[in-house]
Amino acid sequence: MTVPAPATGLRMPAATRWTLWGLLLALVAALLVTLVWLAGRYEASQVQSQLERDIAVAASDIRAGLARNAQTLQALQVTSHGNQERWQSEAGSVLRERREILRIEWRDPDLRLLVMSESPYRPPVFSRIGRPEIQADVQLACAQAQRQGGAAYSPSYYLPQLDGLGLEVKDLCLPQMTAGRLTGHLVATYALQEILAAMVGPALTRSQEVSFNEPDGTRLALHGMAQRGLRTFTAQQLLDLPGNAVLLRMDSWRAAPDLFPNVLTALVTAMSITLVAVLALLVKDMRRRLRVEQDLADALAFRKAMEDSLVTGLRARDLQGRITYVNPAFCAMVGFSPEELLGHPLPAPYWPPELTSEYQKRQDVRLAGQHLPPREGQESVFMRKDGSRFPVLIIEAPLINAHGAQTGWMSAFLDMSEQRRIEELSRASQDRLQATARLATVGEMASLLSHELNQPLAAIASYATGSLNLLRGGAADGIETALQRIAQQAERAGKVIKSVHDFVRRRDQAREAVAPQALLDAVMPLVNLQARKLGVAVVTRVPAGLLPVVCDRTMVEQVLLNLARNAMQAMQEARVARPSLTLQARRIGPDEHGGKAWLEFAVIDVGPGIPPDVQQQLFTPFFTTKAEGMGLGLSLCRTVVEQHGGFLSFEPNTPQGTIFRFTLPAQPADLPTLDSP
Ligand code: ADP
Repeated sequence: MTVPAPATGLRMPAATRWTLWGLLLALVAALLVTLVWLAGRYEASQVQSQLERDIAVAASDIRAGLARNAQTLQALQVTSHGNQERWQSEAGSVLRERREILRIEWRDPDLRLLVMSESPYRPPVFSRIGRPEIQADVQLACAQAQRQGGAAYSPSYYLPQLDGLGLEVKDLCLPQMTAGRLTGHLVATYALQEILAAMVGPALTRSQEVSFNEPDGTRLALHGMAQRGLRTFTAQQLLDLPGNAVLLRMDSWRAAPDLFPNVLTALVTAMSITLVAVLALLVKDMRRRLRVEQDLADALAFRKAMEDSLVTGLRARDLQGRITYVNPAFCAMVGFSPEELLGHPLPAPYWPPELTSEYQKRQDVRLAGQHLPPREGQESVFMRKDGSRFPVLIIEAPLINAHGAQTGWMSAFLDMSEQRRIEELSRASQDRLQATARLATVGEMASLLSHELNQPLAAIASYATGSLNLLRGGAADGIETALQRIAQQAERAGKVIKSVHDFVRRRDQAREAVAPQALLDAVMPLVNLQARKLGVAVVTRVPAGLLPVVCDRTMVEQVLLNLARNAMQAMQEARVARPSLTLQARRIGPDEHGGKAWLEFAVIDVGPGIPPDVQQQLFTPFFTTKAEGMGLGLSLCRTVVEQHGGFLSFEPNTPQGTIFRFTLPAQPADLPTLDSP
């Protein structure tokens, strides 16, 4: 077998396959989720680091702004030359420029207030709570400033205002030294919120919030209005001011719960969706393939079952004559295994050695594609592996592939041995039937025979009695004649017996060429036997120089005898006044197309003819109209004639009676002729 059985080894169990697919899908999904998450995180970290950069910028802006302010305030003392009026006007102009400064005080070394100036932008900030109440913060900052010999800031504190709101403020203390001696203090009160508003660039606060916070998280001041969203990004930086530190914090919100926060994430997501779609398509395709594979496996199994159940041998050959396929029936027929046959070149192992050259020639013709093999097949002899020969019927057809090109030959084989055996059997039983029929005929003839033998025997007896009388009387001269008569009569009796014996004896079945006259001569003694008894006139008409016929003569004689006997019996039954029987032979053909030559025998009587209802069943075995008839005669006759390739028919005779005709093939030129029985 070249077609493999569906290879279970190559096919994965469905459960395993689905598990693998599931695993693949899970992996892809996990990968995609991770990618999206990573992209999101990357985007978040971008935002975060931007925020870190922003807060660093903001912190340094604030530091720079505060340092610049400290310088401006320091300069105030110098430019006023100790003149309080002048100081106050200078301070007023500083306050107009610097919104974040709410109030500037000039104090003596013991922190007593000498002069002060208030911001023109808001009501005096200490009007709700008096300045002295929060003197402690100022003292603290100034003590620190003295220690450091530079500016120092107080911790921030809350300052309630007249309008009900409040401010978080911080004091800056600048010690003033003249020739290394402390001559006073300059105290400036900062509004924290205004610091943020004035010193942090507007670009930074447009979309984010900047705030000052205590280290514990308490919010002190806030600037900028970020649009609130779900995702908050926060950066903090410690603003380490001399004397006090404050936490600068920046908050930024991302607007939506961003599924596609940026192009990268969107790209990854789009790719993921495409990937999933491709996977889905692949799965679909896979399922289709699986279905097709299943169908194919079914078709293969069906084909295999069909091939295995066939009793016809099948064999395919390529154009070089190598065997490409054999089915189990073929292997069983020839006794070789598929492995021994497949790929085997010519000559095939099942060719009998004595026929190899003939088969090889046939194959050469076939493979050259010169003419197609006969459709009805052709008979051949093959050899089994054990060396025994057997007849096969081969039916061949060209193998055409899907592109319409011939790729080899497909042949079907029928083992004919069994059929031959059955044919043999049926021939044997046919023969036995013939013999039985012949014996039956003889049985019928026994009475005729006794009647016929009676005459010679009676003659012999009377001659013998006469001879005895002559002997007793002493006359010797008549005895010789009497003995001659006895011998003649005995010979006649012997002939009668021999004619029956010849007929009954089985002879070889070989076909031989026999002259028509010889066939008639062989049956005439028996025909005459009956004819004499029934008073039938027998005529034979055989033209000289007829071609001999090829036949099994015993059988054909039986046919002639049967037909003659039927004819005489019919005439006897109908009590025909002048019964007569004609046996004749004539040649027909060959026709103008060069067909075979035939001889036609006819048995003609003048009996009653055959009524139509009898005609219908004439050749049916065991059909008879006679009380002691067997009804086998005509059916056997037809079988015999047809076995010879001839044809048996009947027709009415004019004016009355029946003509039975049958044909036999004339001898081809090369067979020897037998003229005598
Ligand atoms: P059987 O002679 O044993 O009856 P046959 O098969 O020879 O069997 O004949 C079948 C029947 O055909 C006969 O019984 C007879 O009725 C009819 N038949 C045969 N030959 C003739 C004939 N020459 N004329 C009339 N009838 C015939």
